[in-house]
Amino acid sequence: ATPTALMVGTGRGAQLGILIKGPEVLESTRRVDTVVLDKTGTVTTGRMTLREVYVVADTDEKELLRLAGALEHASEHPVARAIAAGAQERTGALPPVEHFENVPGLGVRGRVEGHDVQVGRLHEGELPEALARAKAEAQTEGRTAVVVTRDGVALGVVTVADAIKETSAEAVRALRGLGLTPVLLTGDNRAVARSVARAVGIDPGDVVAEVLPEEKVAVVKRLQSEGRTVAMVGDGVNDAAALATADLGLAMGTGTDAAIEASDLTLVRGDLRVAADAIRLSRKTLSAIK
Ligand code: ADP
Ligand code: MG
Repeated sequence: ATPTALMVGTGRGAQLGILIKGPEVLESTRRVDTVVLDKTGTVTTGRMTLREVYVVADTDEKELLRLAGALEHASEHPVARAIAAGAQERTGALPPVEHFENVPGLGVRGRVEGHDVQVGRLHEGELPEALARAKAEAQTEGRTAVVVTRDGVALGVVTVADAIKETSAEAVRALRGLGLTPVLLTGDNRAVARSVARAVGIDPGDVVAEVLPEEKVAVVKRLQSEGRTVAMVGDGVNDAAALATADLGLAMGTGTDAAIEASDLTLVRGDLRVAADAIRLSRKTLSAIK
């Protein structure tokens, strides 16, 4: 009877838009008490758009966008796509890139038109007062803000906006309803993360922000070492290893192949509410077996 009930659970999962790697996966849902949610692409759509451009006094906004857009054109990151597309729209064709390096979770750097250019959170040291203020304000309002430097000097700040998925707040409520504690995990800035957390109903104390890609695994392990059983939902952009480390990994079907490979379950439509459905279904399936 046991395998049959598991097969039924798996079939019902497919109807709900949940792909289950194998029936044994269901077992790991039993004790899950914490659900770690990746921010970008999981709680939010991850389809970012370019918004404000702030420049230092002697810099031209278009010049900044040309340099930043050229570099970001070579990156797949959602922030990069927004900047490259926006720059192209606002300035036209982008110059070629002579050298390019992606720094995961931090940004990009390279050479454009004979200059060393960086975009992201790679800039160290103080920003000019006006830029620092503009950046902080955008972040408080939930927009991601990145610094553009040319030859080591900050030229300006570019902000991009991401939309919170309409279903995310309801999903968080449903997860809580199952007795799970939601945790928001992101490489993005703390103020941005808190703004998203507030909008979807995650406690500020359960926000882990400014985390480097390789540290996301450590966050999952730390929760596990506190005795928690951890489910993680992510899109695979810089979080595939954390998905694999979690007791239960759930991939957004709209995410990367790496996410799907690293996970136990795939939420086909990328709807976070289905994460709650998945956990509810497996618990039901398991209790039918017992
Ligand atoms: P998340 O955890 O939200 O998916 P990441 O870990 O991928 O975010 O990135 C963290 C932060 O690093 C971003 O919010 C952004 O500030 C910066 N960053 C990463 N990649 C890029 C890029 N290609 N261009 C600019 N900034 C970037
Ligand atoms: Mg992500």
